[in-house]
Amino acid sequence: MSTFIQFVYFLVAVAFIVGLKAMSSPATARRGVQWAGYAMLAAVLVTFYLPGMHNYGLMITAIVIGAAIAWYLGKTVKMTDMPQMVAIYNGMGGGAAAAIAAVEFLRQDAAHHASVGLLAALGAIIGAVAFSGSCVAFAKLQGLLKKTYQVPQQNNVVFFLALFTFGIGLTIGFSSHPGGFELTIFFLLALALGALLTLPIGGADMPVVISLLNAFTGLAVGFEGYVLANPLLIVAGTVVGASGTLLTLLMAKAMNRSIRTVIFAPITGEAQETQGEVSGSLKEYSPDDAAATLRYAQKVIIVPGYGMAVAGAQHKVWEMAQLLEEAGVEVKFAIHPVAGRMPGHMNVLLAEAGVPYDKIFDLEEINAEFAQTDVALVIGANDVVNPAARTNKSSPIYGMPILNVDQAREVLVIKRGKGTGYSGIENELFYRDNCHMVYGSAQEVVARIIQRLKELEA
Ligand code: NDP
Repeated sequence: MSTFIQFVYFLVAVAFIVGLKAMSSPATARRGVQWAGYAMLAAVLVTFYLPGMHNYGLMITAIVIGAAIAWYLGKTVKMTDMPQMVAIYNGMGGGAAAAIAAVEFLRQDAAHHASVGLLAALGAIIGAVAFSGSCVAFAKLQGLLKKTYQVPQQNNVVFFLALFTFGIGLTIGFSSHPGGFELTIFFLLALALGALLTLPIGGADMPVVISLLNAFTGLAVGFEGYVLANPLLIVAGTVVGASGTLLTLLMAKAMNRSIRTVIFAPITGEAQETQGEVSGSLKEYSPDDAAATLRYAQKVIIVPGYGMAVAGAQHKVWEMAQLLEEAGVEVKFAIHPVAGRMPGHMNVLLAEAGVPYDKIFDLEEINAEFAQTDVALVIGANDVVNPAARTNKSSPIYGMPILNVDQAREVLVIKRGKGTGYSGIENELFYRDNCHMVYGSAQEVVARIIQRLKELEA
């Protein structure tokens, strides 16, 4: 590899790392994505100058088709569909790593080094698992797969399948001319493994598994970078693998679950029959009642959830919060780590609406404050405020820490009707004496509250 290419790869690797660092804060995230994007463009361009490259027509065709599809999807995707888009793009990365391994297996000759074959096999398995697992995650987030599925003796089947696939992978990695049949069986088994691992997972475990698949993709890319002796792929793969692993650990900690339990004792996400009956009645407030309650409170904590994203209500929510602040009410935002459908979902939406970061608090920072709060305003959130997570062992969200909105003097919940959250279970919070429902789509309800707040000030 020429010094020029090495130098560009070095700059690109630095830009990836600096870009990733910038992405860790909403204030600099946009810049971070741009740096990483330009770096990726440079990496692709310089790859044309790698020694041994000759199939330029095919390369350009693939880049044009891929870029056109990604550009179109990037421009047209709805904000609420971002989680499944991220899942499928992640899967593409894993699939690409597995495809590299397949090509390298076919090119293998007697002179190849065994360690390269071993790493290619590892990258192939992990990449294929990330690909099929991400496809299943995509189908779940897109609502195409509504249930979770397990085979009988799930854990034993997964264990032996993983062992068998790894065994075949080793044979392929060490052989000089692996056959087409052997390769096909190997990849089919690896793909089945990814699907089997992800199909039973649902409910509160989904965020953890999505970040785990992300880490797998990074790892697979890193291994294939070693196989191709490409330092940039090694760096990029390691960075994604490491950040994905850290995110997985953080998400698992936030959900109070270990990675082992997520994979081997998954929350199925299906409501259990033993869930327990909720008692009490739902009490309704009009948006005007809600506006008055909020206006005359001293302290309000707003808890956004997936419904706020669906309604695209974040700008209106911030406008309402500003009106309340002008009227002397203290307003804070509380964000649960798995609110919405992707890590950081609510942070992104509130940042987009211009909410200052010092008004946004994580669960651990703010949970103790609910007991001294006049009104907890829940906007399109459900599972993340469901008290069943504390007490009901048969609940698919049992053990997940929740935002303690029920401890506020009064709870207002904006949602359209009796719809359940992602986990599909009832929420007894809504039936409590201190809770009132404000029915309607978040955007319209908050717009009406804003109007009423203005009338109250006039
Ligand atoms: P939930 O999915 O629990 O609840 C969302 C609520 O929003 C629903 O009950 C729905 O009720 C309401 N809603 C829907 N549309 C609107 C609208 N237009 N206006 C007002 N309300 C609306 O959301 P949470 O954020 O509380 O919890 C997230 C869940 O998603 C957790 O279970 C988490 O494990 C899971 N998950 C999270 C991921 C992540 O990475 N963050 C990834 C995958 C899953 P109604 O129909 O009555 O309006």
